[in-house]
Amino acid sequence: MPELPEVEVTRRGVAPHIEGRTVHDVVLRRDGLRWPFPAQLRQRLAGRLVVRTGRRGKYLLVHFEHGTLIIHLGMSGHLRVLAPGIEPEKHDHFDLVVDGPQGRQVLRMKDPRRFGAVLWHDDADGLLEHHVLLRELGVEPLETGFSGKLLYDQTRQRSAPVKQVLLAGDIVVGVGNIYASESLFRAGINPKTPAKRISLARYEKLAQAIREILAEAIIQGGSTLRDFISVNGQSGYFQQTYFVYDRAGVPCRVCAAPVRQIKQGQRSTFYCVNCQK
Ligand SMILES: [Zn+2]
Repeated sequence: MPELPEVEVTRRGVAPHIEGRTVHDVVLRRDGLRWPFPAQLRQRLAGRLVVRTGRRGKYLLVHFEHGTLIIHLGMSGHLRVLAPGIEPEKHDHFDLVVDGPQGRQVLRMKDPRRFGAVLWHDDADGLLEHHVLLRELGVEPLETGFSGKLLYDQTRQRSAPVKQVLLAGDIVVGVGNIYASESLFRAGINPKTPAKRISLARYEKLAQAIREILAEAIIQGGSTLRDFISVNGQSGYFQQTYFVYDRAGVPCRVCAAPVRQIKQGQRSTFYCVNCQK
């Protein structure tokens, strides 16, 4: 499943091909994905300028002068930029066709499992940050509002395990299952620790670990950027060298004790009992 780094790498990959371009056409090959496609999307976007792209959590944002296209990649979605005239494959559900100085290009979304979304927020309906999907989101981990102090202050009443508080996304977004396990390992924090029992100093280490690990993932993913503009490109998802994630029973890279796997709220957590207290 694409997590924040994959979405950010996708954004950076497609941005040069759509920003500053004018929409020529919108092609919808079914009624919707997780939710119905917006009504009259073609009429809303044809002839309009893509001002810039953005991201909020795992939502990729395509900003126009009159509103924003909100794209979520769901479980299996990905975007590619293609030359015009390439026949869609199975599961290619949405095209944004744009014209620019280099000619016409197609931003195409494939989503086999159809948990993704393409939605429209019209500026006439209010501020984008008040959109129902965006308004509950926590701070962006790579922006200045995120800190150990924020984690500490927001968890004084939270007795749930720290890993689940990270995953909840209401304090900080984008720390999904992989990055929660990896960040807690790097910060030396046991994922089962009640969030309210963790000190400010340890939260500062955790915030630093989250920032580093997400930034490293984005840099690593950047090496796949070329895939976004190739016809046969892969999805752009990438695998980092993990310390604990998906390494149950394998020796910890630091202390050689076997990595443990437990279930927390239906999700697998991986950690080292020696390195994480
Ligand atoms: Zn260890």
